[in-house]
Amino acid sequence: GSEILQLHIFFFPFMAHGHMIPTVDMAKLFALHGVKTTIVTTPLNAPFFSKTIERSKNSGVDVDIKIIKFPSAQVGLPEGFESLEPSKGMGMDVISKFFLATSLLQEPLEQLLQEFKPDCLVADMFFPWATDAAKKFEIPRLVFHGTSFFSLCVTECLRQYEPHKKVESDDEPFVVPNLPGDIELTRKKLPDFMMQEIETDFTKMLKASRESEMKTNGVVVNSFYELEASYADFYRNFLGRKAWHIGPVSLCNRRIEDKAERGKKASIDEHECLKWLDSKKPNSVVYVCFGSTVNFTSAQLKEIAMGLEDSGQEFIWVVRLDKGNEEEEWLPEGFEERTKGKGLIIRGWAPQVLILEHPAVGGFVTHCGWNSTLEGVSAGVPMVTWPIAAEQFYNEKLVTDVLKIGVSVGVKRWVRVVGDFVNRDAVGKVVKVIMVGEKAEEMRSRAKALGEMAKRAVEKDGSSYSDLNALIQELSQRRGR
Ligand code: UDP
Repeated sequence: GSEILQLHIFFFPFMAHGHMIPTVDMAKLFALHGVKTTIVTTPLNAPFFSKTIERSKNSGVDVDIKIIKFPSAQVGLPEGFESLEPSKGMGMDVISKFFLATSLLQEPLEQLLQEFKPDCLVADMFFPWATDAAKKFEIPRLVFHGTSFFSLCVTECLRQYEPHKKVESDDEPFVVPNLPGDIELTRKKLPDFMMQEIETDFTKMLKASRESEMKTNGVVVNSFYELEASYADFYRNFLGRKAWHIGPVSLCNRRIEDKAERGKKASIDEHECLKWLDSKKPNSVVYVCFGSTVNFTSAQLKEIAMGLEDSGQEFIWVVRLDKGNEEEEWLPEGFEERTKGKGLIIRGWAPQVLILEHPAVGGFVTHCGWNSTLEGVSAGVPMVTWPIAAEQFYNEKLVTDVLKIGVSVGVKRWVRVVGDFVNRDAVGKVVKVIMVGEKAEEMRSRAKALGEMAKRAVEKDGSSYSDLNALIQELSQRRGR
């Protein structure tokens, strides 16, 4: 019967929100295409998946979870430390321990692979050892990076040609060699470890990740062809990588009517939030959010507040409160009274996709994490780019220079946690640029066109829909052999 022929795929996400959110969407998406999917995770991360999985069950989407114990104690991490969020104020030592702990998951993962014999393992780039684990049971392994083709290409070109080692200073611009589009960067915008000559646990892991990737069956990319065609082509044809683009994966929730919050529980009643937006004119509200890990100082939050007020725009601003800034000393005096009705502050976690897709929202101030960037693209809104760390400075370039749907706030320096300081004038000015005037309209119409393309890509016979089916077909044929 068809039961026996059903393909079974394991998904094994890295334990951080920016990786777990697209993974659960990916698992749901494959399930929508008739694949049996199982997410492998650890006890404290499991509830995060189960809520959204529970909700999608009504739409016939069945995703299973298998739980393996996270060895915190074994590596000297505090009990209950099962996800990596730099905001917890962690140093490199903690990060190293965390990666060590994840590598100890190889054995329990192998037990699951042996027991269930899935047809494929989609494992995060941060788990290089997963390739060997899968190989033992002759299971194909695919890699999930959670970023754009564009960033994957930049990373690889920098590694191969090292243009950043040929400039005289940290501020001197260089062009990324061979990459289409003459993309200009400076050393300051690159991750700090790129200029370090000494090896650390982290750089060793990245090296292992790259080497192991060459031995995998390819990569799965949360993007769509029309968004970055030249970079998707470059990645495949010039860099010679096998890749499938299947995104934007967040859009799968439209197909299964799972409109509730993804990730953590929202810190605001969703209906209230939507009601507030319903009372606003189209494209009149700017949404300000910096992802799941960025933690600004009180001084920086104050500048953002004043900048938003100066811009004269209506806003929803998400402020993360897990660093001891509960006392609200970051709010300028009288701010909330003055902006009453005009601005909504969400303290904690926002239902981001719901907000972005509301017609009242006309702009997005983002840190350029790839999930947020792609959610902004899908919603068709122009963006203010405010990158902090990771590969966010590359995503910024895609948004501002290639797609031309955003304006940079002007941050010049990659910083692991806190970020370069931006004053109120800069904030107020760029927010106005994406919200009102001719330039805003130009960017908005380009963004809207991309948003439409994103939706078409995941519909029947769209580019992502077809690539996903091609992948499923390839895996089915492989099993048939
Ligand atoms: N997100 C959310 N509510 C928040 C903050 C973030 O739903 O208040 C979601 C957002 O929609 C995105 C993810 O968390 O899917 C953040 O991923 P991204 O790659 O943008 O950034 P990271 O958190 O990894 O830096």
